[in-house]
Amino acid sequence: MEFNIALLRGDGIGPEIVDSAVAVLEKTAAKFGHKFSFTPYLIGGCAIDETGIPLPQETIDGCLASDSVLLGAVGGPKWDDQPGSNRPEKALLGIRSALGLFTNLRPAKLYPALRAASPLKDEIVGKGFDIMIVRELTGGIYFGDRGYREGKYGQEAFDTEAYSVTEIERIGRVAFDTAMKRSKRVCSIDKANVLESSRLWRKTMHSLAEEYPEVEYSDMFVDNAAMQLVRDPKQFDVIVTSNMFGDILSDEASQITGSIGMLASASLGETSRGMYEPIHGSAPDIAGQNKANPIATILSGAMMLRYSFGLSAEADAIENAVDKVLEAGCRTADLMGSTEGNPLTCTEMTEKIAEVL
Ligand code: NAD
Repeated sequence: MEFNIALLRGDGIGPEIVDSAVAVLEKTAAKFGHKFSFTPYLIGGCAIDETGIPLPQETIDGCLASDSVLLGAVGGPKWDDQPGSNRPEKALLGIRSALGLFTNLRPAKLYPALRAASPLKDEIVGKGFDIMIVRELTGGIYFGDRGYREGKYGQEAFDTEAYSVTEIERIGRVAFDTAMKRSKRVCSIDKANVLESSRLWRKTMHSLAEEYPEVEYSDMFVDNAAMQLVRDPKQFDVIVTSNMFGDILSDEASQITGSIGMLASASLGETSRGMYEPIHGSAPDIAGQNKANPIATILSGAMMLRYSFGLSAEADAIENAVDKVLEAGCRTADLMGSTEGNPLTCTEMTEKIAEVL
């Protein structure tokens, strides 16, 4: 099969890690008989340097014309003085909205080989865990009515959480479909004991669950979920939740894996085109030194194959190659304790993964 991939390398370590993912994707294409074409576009600080703005129209048009988008990271101290509306990070909101991406998939996986990196005790993490957080991305309180008004105690500010049945069903279906490709468990997280919007969320999720009899469905209040994630993360497979709860819980879940350089993400919309990126930033402190861990971006590439192109065996092959190199003891600097031996460079780690594929 043939696919066109738009590459948004961005700033800092962005170019190094995206090039790593491209090398692994090219190897995968050769192994499975596919053809991937890659077209680079500017985004973030490098786009400001070249064009004066962080998200040129050519980038938006190129991404819209592609089958999917792979992003590195944007930003860095060089652009910190830019006005708010022209900051590199502004481009992220712009491109997500231009591509109509309403779902964020954030896997939080603790690899058995990296168990020591988790801040949780051994008896809690056991052999590791593998959670997929499905977060609604374009609704809820971050996009609801807001403002200032006169209240009981004088001036007050307010924000509104609002969700329609359509929005809840849309994100719910992504969660149930995702669970069908994994271990078929969905936990929906809300605050239905207090919030009306959560009561509609829960009612809608329950109706949807009836359409997926193979999926084991449960609900949990968000305060309990925050505790359960550190008490017993292994109990979760797919978590589905609103924009704000997902924002908070996905960061908590990534912290308990202990390694920011390992975590991929996907943003999806109505079409098969998605945007795939590591959850970390542009790491200006190590940029250009060939020290970055490329695995989060390589795994983002694997997610692209699975969720945008329907190439599950190919995605499995990349994920298994990552497992194998970690089991073999390969580590970039961020995955090593200070007393361990020599770390692999970004290029060496990429070559190891491509070799094992
Ligand atoms: P960061 O994620 O870039 O870095 C935090 C720490 O983690 C640093 O010590 C860094 O060296 C390390 N790190 C991150 N990714 C790594 C990797 N792949 N391998 C090894 N080490 C890695 O967060 P920050 O320092 O808060 O932000 C730096 C810049 O990135 C800022 O301009 C920020 O706005 C931007 N940022 C961009 C995105 C994005 O593009 N999606 C996300 C977060 C931050």
